[in-house]
Amino acid sequence: MTFRDLNIIDPILKSIAIAGYKEPTPIQTDAIPVLLSKKDILGSAQTGTGKTAAFAIPILQNLYIERPDSNHRHIRALILTPTRELASQIYENFTLYAKFVNQRSTVIYGGVSQKKQEEALAKGVDVLIATPGRLLDLMHQGFISLQHVSYLVLDEADRMLDMGFIKDVNKIIEYVPKARQTMLFSATMPKEIETLSKTILNDPVRVSI
Ligand code: AMP
Repeated sequence: MTFRDLNIIDPILKSIAIAGYKEPTPIQTDAIPVLLSKKDILGSAQTGTGKTAAFAIPILQNLYIERPDSNHRHIRALILTPTRELASQIYENFTLYAKFVNQRSTVIYGGVSQKKQEEALAKGVDVLIATPGRLLDLMHQGFISLQHVSYLVLDEADRMLDMGFIKDVNKIIEYVPKARQTMLFSATMPKEIETLSKTILNDPVRVSI
């Protein structure tokens, strides 16, 4: 199995080659076809399995196909993740895979000044990677609108639950249009995550490794 067999387009294959990935990992082989076909997914996968590329690559491909050269950018993909470290890693992944598809990402998290984050947002982005608290802050201050989001990822949902972010996550999701593709990833599936998945996912495909 190769990334080409998974119908990844040439400009993204080029980035994957630069990243040095020889073949897709198991979660990528399972998740990429599901996500390219715009179905919702419930994935149980730990970090270290190639999970980030499993959602980032199909999201970028779909964004690019929908609008190959966007001059006027809106946030069309939103990735929620519990920590600054994870947010930064996801941002680096998106930036790497997006090199030849003209999709811009930015990352926001708490604990640092918001000025630079405001400036990056003002330039226009296609993909926003965020921790829940800072995202809500910036939304309430009017710096962020989620009305154009059509791809939503909840990464490490169980950790967001453990860290007490689920209320914030639910609040954020209220602002995301219902016509969207939703992807929920969690290393474990406690009852609360099962319940959340039932309310936010639409007939999801389950993928686990
Ligand atoms: P993640 O599980 O998303 O945190 O990814 C773990 C690490 O695996 C990251 O350093 C990725 O760059 C790397 N990675 C992701 N996909 C592949 C692949 N298909 N082949 C080799 N390395 C990969």
